[in-house]
Amino acid sequence: MTSVLEPATEEVMAELPEVGEAETDAAVERARRAFPSWRAVSPGDRSTLLHGLADALAEHVEELARLEARNAGKPIGDARGEMQMVVETFRYYAGAPERLLGKTIPVEGGVDMTFREPLGVVGLIVPWNFPLVIAAWKVAPALAAGNTLVLKPAELTPLSALELERLALEAGLPKGVLNVVAGSGRVCGQRLVEHPHVAKVAFTGSTAVGRGIAAAAAGTIKRVTLELGGKSANVVFADADLEQAAASAPIAVFGNAGQDCCARSRILVERSVFDRFLFHMEETVHALRVGDPLDEETTMGPLISAAQREAVRSYVPEDAPVAIRGSAPEGPGFWFPPVVLAPVANGDRAAREEIFGPVACVIPFEDEADAVAVANDTVYGLSGSVWTRDGARALRVARAIDAGVVSINSNTSVRVTTPFGGFKQSGVGRELGPDALHAYTEEKNVYYATEPGSGPAAALPSESAAP
Ligand code: NAD
Repeated sequence: MTSVLEPATEEVMAELPEVGEAETDAAVERARRAFPSWRAVSPGDRSTLLHGLADALAEHVEELARLEARNAGKPIGDARGEMQMVVETFRYYAGAPERLLGKTIPVEGGVDMTFREPLGVVGLIVPWNFPLVIAAWKVAPALAAGNTLVLKPAELTPLSALELERLALEAGLPKGVLNVVAGSGRVCGQRLVEHPHVAKVAFTGSTAVGRGIAAAAAGTIKRVTLELGGKSANVVFADADLEQAAASAPIAVFGNAGQDCCARSRILVERSVFDRFLFHMEETVHALRVGDPLDEETTMGPLISAAQREAVRSYVPEDAPVAIRGSAPEGPGFWFPPVVLAPVANGDRAAREEIFGPVACVIPFEDEADAVAVANDTVYGLSGSVWTRDGARALRVARAIDAGVVSINSNTSVRVTTPFGGFKQSGVGRELGPDALHAYTEEKNVYYATEPGSGPAAALPSESAAP
């Protein structure tokens, strides 16, 4: 058996049977057998079934939120918000099967049309920081497009995915359509990536593991979507509403205890207002309530594990330039206080690497060109923000930042209806929004000759000589 821990208490909250390669293969086989009939379900019926699953999830929001809050160590208020997003994601894609449109293209001699075909069995691999939300971003469009799937949750947070599997069956999804394998990445995840009957892998996790997945997927020319790490910049100009920007900046790093791929963990502040900005930030940092995830007043929980805490601690050595330090409970629990480092140079280790914990770096800049240069001086490109009252500059800088999701006078990143994903080493492909559906389909082109013997195809070599 393997134990699932509660990070706020270090106590075991569940014991799960060990699963490995054989169980992964069995799940792929179930999905493979279920695929032809799931693909054949009419768009209207598939839509109804997905709405049914959204209803089942909506009925269980509170218990799912409590489960996620305990297992991932996140404040219950945040967990409720996440479960609402899970429901919203299923509702959004429940409307999709009937809108999976092709094109007709004017050609000579006949009619050319395209279809969006499902891929088959898809493997979905998700991390521990937003376990069910990130699973939903993949599961809902994959099912809507007519695929069957195997979902592999992170080792540390498998419980909400197992609940999703149970609710899907309860909501009437046919057996074998949605399968969960709660095993390790090294064994079960790797097997999904290499499996000859898995057509695509959609992965969210670290850049290091994503790199290995891209390489392993090459063996079977698998389609791959990768949502990876980040080190996003929050650029604050002197003409911004400083109080608002400073009140929001800590939340944009310390939300989910900093374990957020979109964390704006590099706060770039124009030098002329640097000290004032830090002064305003201090109040928000000290207002954070770090503690029991199930306490309604809590705004920051523990880190996910002891190993994560050790990794985060390494970015705050004795001589680190700690400008603000919040408080955190004593153990048990994997607690770490929110920490603001300032001033930091963009070349410092804490500013270059994804810390994935509650550590913010505040970096001064001189002017607009310098701000853009520093913001882009990273291998990552997931998200970012620009704070200024100058509208033209806001758009100029937003366009100049090499990142997939940029907000102006806001630190938000994710909406169900809009595309989300990374530039550079933050990933490949997009999730959410209408186009995510296409990532779970192949485009098929069908030509129907209405005037036999005519048309451009007659002249192509493939008609006369096989290549
Ligand atoms: P991780 O890369 O360690 O693990 C992610 C998942 O991959 C887990 O399910 C794990 O079991 C599995 N895995 C591990 N090794 C594997 C292998 N060899 N083959 C197949 N699967 C394997 O990441 P994590 O620590 O769970 O999550 C934190 C990381 O996720 C951070 O880097 C964060 O930025 C990133 N993240 C990105 C996004 C995004 O949308 N871009 C969102 C959330 C988290």
